Amino acid sequence: MKVFKFGGASLKNAAGVKNVVSIIRQHGPYNVFVVVSAMGKTTNALEKIHSLATSGQNASSQITTLNDYHQEILRELFPSSHPVYQAVASLFKELEAQLATPGEFDQVYDQVVSIGELISSVIVHHYLLAQGESSHWLDARTCIATDACYREGKVEWAKTTTRIQALKPVLAKNIIITQGFIGRTDTGYTTTLGREGSDFSAAIFASSLQADSVTIWKDVPGVMNADPKRLPAATVFEELPFREAAEMTYYGANVIHPKTIKPLANKGIPLFVKNFEDPSLPGTKIHECTVDSLPPLIVFKDNQCLISCKVTDYTFITEEHLSTIFQALSSLDLRLNVMQNSAISFSFCLDFREHKVLSLIQKLQQQFEVFYNTGLTLITVKNYDAATSEKYRNHAGVLLEQSSRSTLQVLVRL
Ligand code: ASP
Ligand code: MG
Repeated sequence: MKVFKFGGASLKNAAGVKNVVSIIRQHGPYNVFVVVSAMGKTTNALEKIHSLATSGQNASSQITTLNDYHQEILRELFPSSHPVYQAVASLFKELEAQLATPGEFDQVYDQVVSIGELISSVIVHHYLLAQGESSHWLDARTCIATDACYREGKVEWAKTTTRIQALKPVLAKNIIITQGFIGRTDTGYTTTLGREGSDFSAAIFASSLQADSVTIWKDVPGVMNADPKRLPAATVFEELPFREAAEMTYYGANVIHPKTIKPLANKGIPLFVKNFEDPSLPGTKIHECTVDSLPPLIVFKDNQCLISCKVTDYTFITEEHLSTIFQALSSLDLRLNVMQNSAISFSFCLDFREHKVLSLIQKLQQQFEVFYNTGLTLITVKNYDAATSEKYRNHAGVLLEQSSRSTLQVLVRL
């Protein structure tokens, strides 16, 4: 059996839904397990709605816009008497109800933002049924058990695996359609698995079902050695070892969610990245393999912040200083992307999550003189060669540079 994951870009309008359903039908009529994201930019819209509502502002015009967007898709796909309208309307009611329920910020966020995936899965399910397919709609929250770490739910694997395995008889007779990105706590609250987490959901389902493969359908022809929007000469990898793909995601290549590879590699389940606009393209196969001489892989990570902590009393940077810095980072759940030290200062770069980074800086200021710059881009060149090394080392505006035998990183102001 196969697991497919379709992201928001593939479902951004009615033509997208038709295309997705036609791809699914080519692999049916059963043993296809489909994970979908919210349509288009719905998750961003829901984030905005949540932040307006929780800051006491009126979100009703944003809700209307989001509803109109889905209604337009529905009208192109279904006659006006179809039950799908009722199903979508009740999810919008649920959205309003969640916004009106008091609760802690991140907890309410998950109750609100998860509705995007519920809506899109309901629409795809009904469209599959309308095409005569036996589609089974699954509420992913009844399978994916997580802790109560809202916005970053940690999966409880044992429970989750057992629940998913119970779906095998259903899958043997149906196409299953479910949501990515969402799970549920023991106490019945919805959780989300982190932005772009639908890939990870697909990997959880695939690993629990010991699927033959997972395919992530994207708007690019496969995994490329650079973002083609930034470097038009980028080329597609035919195949990649799991380890290489995992490292790419670590450096910020956002073609696959970072948590996706591990469960698949552990079970030896190949991951295909294919183009939904042209499914005949070969795409990229990520699996256990060795590829000699991979081309340089270039990853741009924007929105970086460089922080330097300087000791103020003529001592040098000691292990105690480092330990203070790392404790502050870990207590805020922040991750470093690059670090470097000198005699009297320790510098590091991390994603600029404003709220958290500013509280980190405040903490560090109690002990160090702290300097910071925002709006930077971290360029990582994995498997660099002479030409890429020359090019990026001499890039304009380099603030920090670091290299190992295989990987070069420069932090620049673009
Ligand atoms: N819809 C969610 C997001 O935009 C999850 C996903 O697309 O994977 O982050
Ligand atoms: Mg997405």
